Amino acid sequence: MIPYGKHSITDEDIAAVVDVLRSDYITQGNTVPHFEDAIAAYCEARHAVAVSSGTAALHLACLSLGLGPGDTLWTSPNTFVASANCARYCGADVDFVDIDPQTYNMSAEALGKKLEKADRDGCLPKIIVPVHFAGQPCDMKAIAELARRYGVYLIEDACHALGAHYEEKPVGTCEYSDITVFSFHPVKTITTGEGGVLLTNHDPVYERAKLLRSHGVERSGNRDWVYEQNDLGFNYRLTDIQAALGLSQLDRLDAMVALRCKHATRYNELLRNLPLILPYQSEFGRSSWHLYVIQLSEEAAVTRGSLYQMMQDAGIGVNVHYIPVHTQPYYQRLGFCPGQFPTAEAYYDRCLTLPLFPTLSATQQEEVVRTLGDCLE
Ligand SMILES: *Cc1c(COP(=O)(O)O)cnc(C)c1O
Repeated sequence: MIPYGKHSITDEDIAAVVDVLRSDYITQGNTVPHFEDAIAAYCEARHAVAVSSGTAALHLACLSLGLGPGDTLWTSPNTFVASANCARYCGADVDFVDIDPQTYNMSAEALGKKLEKADRDGCLPKIIVPVHFAGQPCDMKAIAELARRYGVYLIEDACHALGAHYEEKPVGTCEYSDITVFSFHPVKTITTGEGGVLLTNHDPVYERAKLLRSHGVERSGNRDWVYEQNDLGFNYRLTDIQAALGLSQLDRLDAMVALRCKHATRYNELLRNLPLILPYQSEFGRSSWHLYVIQLSEEAAVTRGSLYQMMQDAGIGVNVHYIPVHTQPYYQRLGFCPGQFPTAEAYYDRCLTLPLFPTLSATQQEEVVRTLGDCLE
């Protein structure tokens, strides 16, 4: 079986983890701060707070911006459920903004219209979470301009986009947002097993996220044993074992993204004569190619459902990103229903994610393409 995604671990990665295992601190030592400094430097952001998952980072991001009951967060329906769930953890409501049919990212045009109406109706969101789907940056300038106009915070869900660039700068600078969040789950561009990070240029957001990561507890006074709990926090810490893996992986981030890009370019070449819509790339960004997503075009003789099954049966681990979040049973129970975000739903009906990871071989890639060609005949 050729999987749709796969981590890549080297002997150096393993040695780095073993070094920490043999040291005095396997958690709360100095490897986590080193990892945070390295990520912040790579992304050209002021602060980084490493946490136990991308989901934890989204949750702390929302709390650090003061999201709570009575507030609303808007995100894209074409994302992993965590981008919306983070609001629910805070007791806030969720709504969605339909996607752009070319990039599959939140549509800045739809966002503008929805904000205008919400402003008239007195129900503006507190936070908007654009998601850099598949690793392709959203139109952040346009989205940031709208957020500024209406006084809304922005959290970039960049879980797909570590190593991507927006206008030649790394995603994560937070130049157009308040916070950027990354995930280090094994299918993402670099991994720590589980893990995530929150980046920000705002000092108070940084301080609050750091506090809430570890129970809301702070040292106080000059006696070692005195600590004070001023807020209700969590244990969302990353371990030094994980941070060692992350630091070692970060060294290879650009090389791994370059391989993903090379494989994507080859797919573009090999698939161009099939009845497929290939990934559109906007001129202002450079994708990290977390996913290579195709859509069946109108001429295709098969449905996405049957294509998925045929590919799986032939040993090709294709996947589907994403079932629109508002159609999940949990969100339908909150009042959402199919038909509300038609562009995301139409895209979902025709999309398929092909295997893409740094160590995908030319032979494997040719097998994917040949099988896809056979299935489409
Ligand atoms: C992976 C992912 C998350 C969640 O990250 P975890 O580290 O798995 O908690 C959130 N949003 C998006 C878009 C993701 O792809």
